[in-house]
Amino acid sequence: MSLPIVKNYVNGEWTESESDTLGDVWCPATGEKIARVPYSTKADLDQAVRAAKDAFWEWRCTPPLTRSRYLFRLKEAFEENFDDIAETLTSEQGKIIDEARGEVRRMIENVEHATGVTTLMTGYTLEDVAKDIDCYGHRQPMGVFAAIAPYNFPAMVPWWFLPYALVAGNTFIVKPSEQVPMTQTRIFEIADEVGFPEGVINMLHGSRDVVNAMLDHPDIDGISFVGSTPTAKYVYQRCGETGKRVQSLGGAKNIVAVMPDACIDEGLPSIITSFYGCSGQRCLSGAILAMVGDIADQLREKFITAAKTIKMGNGLDEQTAMGPLASAAHRDRVLGYIEKGIEEGAELVLDGRGVKVEGYPDGFFIGPTVFDNVTPDMTIAREEIFGPVVSMMRLKNLDEVIELINSRGFANAACIYTQSGAVVREFKYRVKPSMIGVNIGIAAPMSFFPFGGAGNSMFGDIKGHGQEIFQFFTDTKVVIERWF
Ligand code: NAD
Repeated sequence: MSLPIVKNYVNGEWTESESDTLGDVWCPATGEKIARVPYSTKADLDQAVRAAKDAFWEWRCTPPLTRSRYLFRLKEAFEENFDDIAETLTSEQGKIIDEARGEVRRMIENVEHATGVTTLMTGYTLEDVAKDIDCYGHRQPMGVFAAIAPYNFPAMVPWWFLPYALVAGNTFIVKPSEQVPMTQTRIFEIADEVGFPEGVINMLHGSRDVVNAMLDHPDIDGISFVGSTPTAKYVYQRCGETGKRVQSLGGAKNIVAVMPDACIDEGLPSIITSFYGCSGQRCLSGAILAMVGDIADQLREKFITAAKTIKMGNGLDEQTAMGPLASAAHRDRVLGYIEKGIEEGAELVLDGRGVKVEGYPDGFFIGPTVFDNVTPDMTIAREEIFGPVVSMMRLKNLDEVIELINSRGFANAACIYTQSGAVVREFKYRVKPSMIGVNIGIAAPMSFFPFGGAGNSMFGDIKGHGQEIFQFFTDTKVVIERWF
């Protein structure tokens, strides 16, 4: 049976890439190929950039309120197709349908937030900066921006950027992850019906070659990247060399600390979700469970009991609580980390290897896995595993927790469970990560707050969405004015 080949969207048209290199798209639950994806070339990119550049001036001169009305229409169109987007997402990425719905909701919230452009994009002004002289700064759009996305949030991540860039008057190109190209393709089909002017939004599929071409392209003004730390760092450096604006979000190794006074029973469901939601493939997932003081044994027992009840299956089945990993290659990588943990002396207390999921013998599944007595120097405590593998560590006090967190190179998120306000204050004051959860296991800022980490989890200064994003997508032009 021949598989569908996803298309690029350039200048308001669905176009075929000129490339004859194609990748496979898999359904992670069944282990079957479901589509093929072209690895677009520099020539494909040139066409998209030309279209975006040609569309820029007219779009830039369109009043912001008119631009935002496209987003209002887009929001309605997304709502009408909400379930369809979520199902496409689960089919190719594997996360459970409820998580896919949550992701689509977060995507739409960015569209909603960006419609506030008429207050969010305003500049500033001061009369009489000197005798009879006034000064004011406009935020002006700059040209063509692009987003390069990871595989774990195929719907949402490009929309941390696109609506803001667009409503600010720029034109845009999205490069989805080649592992999950169908979700963004579905989203662009919906956007196509909204009728943006040709060239204002574009999408190109592909892999590292087209990314390199984007990083080097003289007519792309800025890049928003989200992915693993090595790629994020590379993208940041290369954009520096080519003189582009860049915000580059990388990987994570998040610590969830549970203090002796924590309300375990109330907190446990969110602690479990932190580690096993999306099968651990979230940049905000818990990776290390830091059990402080005498709560450790009780917490370990309750955690493992709950982890054992997680129902695995195809994410499209409403009863499923945890789906597969997104690819066979990634499953094997996670299995490698489990081997490494055993080799380095961690105690494997729940083994998700070899899990059998009824009806899905070829899916890319690993069951909930728990290591106890992990030490800070072990590979599984240092590197991002990005799977359903928990490293339990036993710590004496808050100082040890903070030291552990600040000694990981990553600094994306950190969570604490406690009933003490004083402990929380100390924690949030001293830890490096930028997203903090207090009795919350996934510290995910909503669209109106900035999203991004510090250290090796983010290169650049302006984060995703939030109010500051308008700074990334505009240049402040300052006018100093005097009239005779
Ligand atoms: P990845 O770095 O492999 O790929 C991300 C994007 O970069 C893809 O579009 C891919 O085509 C491209 N790419 C990959 N290797 C490249 C190379 N050598 N040169 C040029 N382009 C390249 O990341 P992934 O595996 O798709 O995503 C998972 C990672 O993303 C995890 O590390 C996760 O923590 C991170 N992530 C971070 C955030 C955040 O907010 N910080 C959010 C989501 C995911």
